[in-house]
Amino acid sequence: MGIERDSMEVDVLIVGAGPAGLAAAIHLSNLIEKAREKGELKGAAASDEFTMMIIEKGAEVGDHMLSGAVLDPLSLDELMSDWKEQNPPAYVPVKSEALYYLTEKGQFKSPYTPPAMNNHGCYIISLNQFVKWLGGITEAKGVEVFSGMAGSSAIIEDGVFKGVITDDKGLDKEGQPKGNFEPGIELRSKITILAEGPRGSLTKAVQSELKLDEGRNPQSYLTGVKELWEIPAGRIKAGTVYHTMGYPLGMKQFGGSFNYAMTDELLSIGLTSALNYQDPRFDPHAAFQEFKRHPFISSLLKGGKMIKYGAKTIGEGGYFAMPQLHSDGLMLIGECAGYLNSMRIKGVHLAFKSGMLAAETAFDALTSEDYSAKTLSAYASHFRKSWAFTELWKVRNFHQGFESGLMGGMIHTAAQMITGGRGFSERLTAEPDHVHMRRLSEMPEARLQIEKKFDGELTFDKLSDVYASGTKHEENQPAHLVIGDLSICYDKCTEEYGNPCVNFCPASVYEFIEDEENGERKLQLNPSNCVHCKTCDIADPYKNINWTTPEGGGGPVYSQM
Ligand code: SF4
Repeated sequence: MGIERDSMEVDVLIVGAGPAGLAAAIHLSNLIEKAREKGELKGAAASDEFTMMIIEKGAEVGDHMLSGAVLDPLSLDELMSDWKEQNPPAYVPVKSEALYYLTEKGQFKSPYTPPAMNNHGCYIISLNQFVKWLGGITEAKGVEVFSGMAGSSAIIEDGVFKGVITDDKGLDKEGQPKGNFEPGIELRSKITILAEGPRGSLTKAVQSELKLDEGRNPQSYLTGVKELWEIPAGRIKAGTVYHTMGYPLGMKQFGGSFNYAMTDELLSIGLTSALNYQDPRFDPHAAFQEFKRHPFISSLLKGGKMIKYGAKTIGEGGYFAMPQLHSDGLMLIGECAGYLNSMRIKGVHLAFKSGMLAAETAFDALTSEDYSAKTLSAYASHFRKSWAFTELWKVRNFHQGFESGLMGGMIHTAAQMITGGRGFSERLTAEPDHVHMRRLSEMPEARLQIEKKFDGELTFDKLSDVYASGTKHEENQPAHLVIGDLSICYDKCTEEYGNPCVNFCPASVYEFIEDEENGERKLQLNPSNCVHCKTCDIADPYKNINWTTPEGGGGPVYSQM
C-alpha cells in the first residue's frame, strides 16, 4: 500500500529514550547552552529553528527499561555532577556482595570475587524510575520527547542516513487502514543517533545495509528473565548483591543469576542464559522458575509476592562485536552499539558515556555544519581515548572464552585476567548464537531436567508472568513478528528442532494449536503478549523470524523494574 506521509525536518534525531539516548540529549543541550552563554555558539545549533527530538516506542519514557540494576555512577557523575541534588529516585549503595556456585540442593560461597565484578561504590536502582527521572530533566532542557512513537524504518539515500519513518497507527491485522488510521511521519534529520537498546530493529537493518558489521564478530546475546518480589523483612538487607552460577544451567551453559535487595522487603531477582545454547528444548523462562525452586533462593522468596515480570536480551559479544559506530548522518550508541561490559554484565554506565561521546561529536558537526562520516568518525576516536574503551578492552575476549562451556570459559577468564584481557589469543572469534543449536536427532536427551509445572506462588507460567509485565498492544494490528516462510515452521523446524520458538519465547507468543476446521496443527501467534525481548529474532535456527516494531505505545510497562 503506497502511503502519503508528512515530512518533518529536525537537526538531531535520537531514536530511543533509554540511558544512552537521554544522556546524548542532556549532554548536547548542555554543550549548546555553555557555548551560547560564552557567545561562541556557531552553526546549525545557533539557529532559532534548531530542533532536537527523541522518539521512544514505549507509551511513556521508562516503560521499556529493564535491567538488574546495579549502577556504576562513573558516567552519571560526569553527565551531572550534582545528580544527587536533583531529586533522583531511590538509589541504594551496595553494602555487601557475594558470588555463589549452586549445586542442585546446596551452594558454595566463592572466597573470591573477581575485581571486575566488584560493585563497591555502585548503587542498586530501578532503571525504569531512573530513566523516567532523566526523561523529565531532558524535557526541561527543551528537547522534544515523543513517547508512543516507534522508528519503523530508516531513510537511507545514496548511502547517507537521512532519518526515520515512524510507525503507522490504525492498520488492521491485514494491514488495511481502520477509521483511526494515521500514517507514520518522515522525520528527516541532519544527524540521527540510534539508541534502540539490544538488537534494535533499525540498527539491525542499517548495519546490514551500510555494512557496519563487516569484519566484526557477530553479536552474542543472553536472555535475562526477571521478577520483582515483595518479601518478608529480615531475609536480606537493603544493598545486598548476590550473583550465582551453576544450577539450573550447570557447567555446559553460560549464564547466572542476580539477586539485588532494593530495600529490606523488595528483591530484584533474575536469571540470564546465553543464547548460544545447544538444546532446542531449553526454555529461559522455565529455567528461571526452576532456579527459584533452589532451597537457597526459595528461602528468600517464600511467603513473598511476585509483583512484576520482564525479559530482555543483553548483547554480550564485547568489543570485537561492536559495529562501526558511525556513518554519514548516523551514530550508534548504547546497547545497540554493543556497549556492555560482558564480565560485569553491566551496560548502563557505558550507555551514558556513549551518549556523551556522541553528543560531543554531534556538537562539533553542528558547529561546522558537516554531518559526513568523516566528521562523525571523531566519535570512534573519542571512544578509543575514553575510559569506556579501556574498560571494554580489558574484557574483549571474555564472552568468546565460554563458547565451549563453563569450565573452558573459566580457564580463559583466568588467562585473560593475567594478560590484561588477551588470554590465549589477541582476538577470539565467535559464531552467531543460533548456529549452536543442535537438532533433536543429535540430542535425544534433554540437557536440563526442568519441571514445567508452576504453583502460582513461587513459580509462574508464562501467561501469569506476562500479565505481571503490564504488556498491552492494540490487538487489531499487523503481527509485528514476521515469519519469513511458514512452511519451514511446519515441516523442517517441527521435525528437526521441535519448534524451539515455543520454548525460547518467554511470553508465550508462539503456540501450536489444532485448527478447528481441519484438525491440523497450526502456528498461532499471540503478538499482543510480546515483551519486546528480541530473543526470537536472535535464537531462531533458520533466521525465519524478524522482529519489527508494533504500533508505538504497545509493549511492557516495567514500572519499578
Ligand atoms: Fe521476545 Fe520474540 Fe517472544 Fe516477543 S515474540 S517476547 S521478542 S521472544
